[in-house]
Amino acid sequence: MQPHLRSIEPYDPNFTATRINLSANENTHPLPASVREAVDEVLAATPLNRYPDPMSDALRDEIAAVNDVSRAQVCVGNGGDELLYNFLLAFGGRNRSVLICPPCFSEYAFFAQLTETNVRTAGRDPRTLTLDEEALLACARTCDLVIVTSPNNPTGDLADLGLIERACHACHGLVMVDEAYIEFAGEDASALPLLAHLDNLVILRTLSKAYGAAGTRCGYVMAATDIIDALSAVRQIYSVNVLTQAAALALVRKRGALEPLTASIVTERARLQRALEELPGITVWPSSANFLLVRMAGATAIRNRLRDEYSILVRDFSAAAGLEDCLRITVGTPEENDAVIAALTELLP
Ligand code: PMP
Repeated sequence: MQPHLRSIEPYDPNFTATRINLSANENTHPLPASVREAVDEVLAATPLNRYPDPMSDALRDEIAAVNDVSRAQVCVGNGGDELLYNFLLAFGGRNRSVLICPPCFSEYAFFAQLTETNVRTAGRDPRTLTLDEEALLACARTCDLVIVTSPNNPTGDLADLGLIERACHACHGLVMVDEAYIEFAGEDASALPLLAHLDNLVILRTLSKAYGAAGTRCGYVMAATDIIDALSAVRQIYSVNVLTQAAALALVRKRGALEPLTASIVTERARLQRALEELPGITVWPSSANFLLVRMAGATAIRNRLRDEYSILVRDFSAAAGLEDCLRITVGTPEENDAVIAALTELLP
């Protein structure tokens, strides 16, 4: 194995089969029947004997129309993960650097390692866990790439659009805004409108969260056409298979029917937050995503008891720097949220 890859271990999110899984920020609701039927219909009509369209043109056209950009400004990938990897493959590498703001999505550092891209970090406020804007901008001036996650996983905070604009001006390279959870953040939160006048801005989205389609593995990037051309050049030719392209197209077409579901998750997020805040000794950070970050003494033991005694799985971040005693809880269905509230009410002394 190449020396720079030797320390890498296979990704294992530590899934255990539980009654309730609130550990991976998926959409835990079943799709609305009309959406599921539309997906089933196109899947049934999709031939499997032919290779997929390597450019996913029909899907790119639909995504472009919805977001008011051109097809040439869209690249589709096998989940946001593939696009993150391709971003660092195309634009990172030896002697280049990427700036990230931990605690953030762990895959950034992983793909940086795979591509031998140097990782630089700008901190966050230790109490609010929000971005240190001055540190970010100062570091952006000397980095080739910047990744800002908005809303951020696992802290839930939203990046200010003015900051993103300033980061694009400060950085001589590219600024990616990872908007995997943007649909839960409300109108006007997205950096998409900035794309028209910032040619080094890259926006990443996924169908894994609000669209309820994590299993299909579909994400997309929107950026200036020269950036999309580079991302298209390095990708694995048929990485987005025929079933994913067909299902994703149906889902994007049916997005209106998914909006009430997103709205109900946002309502439940507020309810879950209020209920958790009433428990003794707990800190709950505000969130613009479909999860809540919470801190409590003995978090790892509580996470294990939730799993073993209540069959509820949440994500333990206690080992991450700055997130000591923190758990991340996905906002689930009302019943799932009730179950986690009831369990924590029993477990917290
Ligand atoms: N960005 C962030 C911030 C995420 O949390 C995730 C998934 N957890 C992704 C990107 C990638 O999502 P996917 O590969 O499922 O599209």
